[in-house]
Amino acid sequence: MAEILAASTQLVEASLPPTATWQRSLKQAIRSGHQLLESLGLPTALGCSSAQRDFPVFVPQEYARRMRPSDPRDPLLLQVLATAQETMDTAGRDDPVGDRQSEVIPGLLHKYVGRALLITSGACAVHCRYCFRRHFPYHQAPVGPVGWQPAIQAIDQDASITEVILSGGDPLSVVDESLSQLVEQLNTITHLHRIRIHTRFPVVIPSRVCQSMVAWIRSSRCPIYCVLHFNHPAEIDSEVKQSLRELRQAGAVLLNQSVLLRGVNDCQVVQRELCEKLVNSQVLPYYLHQLDPVRGAMHFAVSDIEAQQILTQLRSMLPGYAVPRLVRELAGHPSKIPVPFE
Ligand SMILES: *Cc1c(COP(=O)(O)O)cnc(C)c1O
Ligand code: SF4
Repeated sequence: MAEILAASTQLVEASLPPTATWQRSLKQAIRSGHQLLESLGLPTALGCSSAQRDFPVFVPQEYARRMRPSDPRDPLLLQVLATAQETMDTAGRDDPVGDRQSEVIPGLLHKYVGRALLITSGACAVHCRYCFRRHFPYHQAPVGPVGWQPAIQAIDQDASITEVILSGGDPLSVVDESLSQLVEQLNTITHLHRIRIHTRFPVVIPSRVCQSMVAWIRSSRCPIYCVLHFNHPAEIDSEVKQSLRELRQAGAVLLNQSVLLRGVNDCQVVQRELCEKLVNSQVLPYYLHQLDPVRGAMHFAVSDIEAQQILTQLRSMLPGYAVPRLVRELAGHPSKIPVPFE
């Protein structure tokens, strides 16, 4: 029996892509609105070059392929295309969630009891226009095995930390050799009980879930919680489903967080389809975030009243475990805050 199990594990892993494919995808990513719009047969005037000077466009082909050609309102396109609306925003701020106040040492944020967040890498699989960290000074965060050591020491010295969140940017933009060393090192800290990974890679470049990644997930003493970031049901295709299956089979617990975005997913039909597709792949909807008021993204904002209406409708149609918690983040608060909040 053990032999059969071992053999089947090997077979599963043999079908996984080698590491190199996702790095090639990053190299071949679309890096301008012009190129993206052209590939979709759309007028290039829909983009805005000054907005992308502020925060460059970055879209892997795998993600662009899931967009509908000739549709200027495609929900995936709207998440990644730099538009003139960004430059007209006067209400948004640079550090909307007070990240820089909670930085213990460079690259380690300790904002909530028991959980410390390591800025593992400044790089991402895609640039999301509504990102709350779009102005975060990533170039100052120490990334890579040597740079992480002070943060690991700080975690080791603080027994109140039971969970480490690898975030960024996107931690999966780091090569598996380094990640597996990091996870191994964290596993030697006895007061740590969980490792969480906040990532958009399996959504954007599903081939990131490769043999070497599955290996370090499977061998971790601390259970691995993966918090994915799907915003729209059209992001989930058969390749994505396959990579979710591989993550699950490696023993990761899968959760999803979304951002409620005007024009992208601000309707109960889309949210319901997203939640159903997620739970069908054994991913539990965790958070639905109200937009952080970041400069350049305020055109995506949805009012609390509308957001609550969508949630009420979801509750009436879905099993309880398939309904996310509607939250927002406030600087200086000890947790994410349920909406409404008095
Ligand atoms: C969101 C966040 C967490 C995790 O919060 P949970 O409610 O546990 O998901 C931890 N640290 C920081 C800095 C965060 O922004
Ligand atoms: S993947 Fe996450 S951190 Fe990176 S740009 Fe998108 S929302 Fe921001």
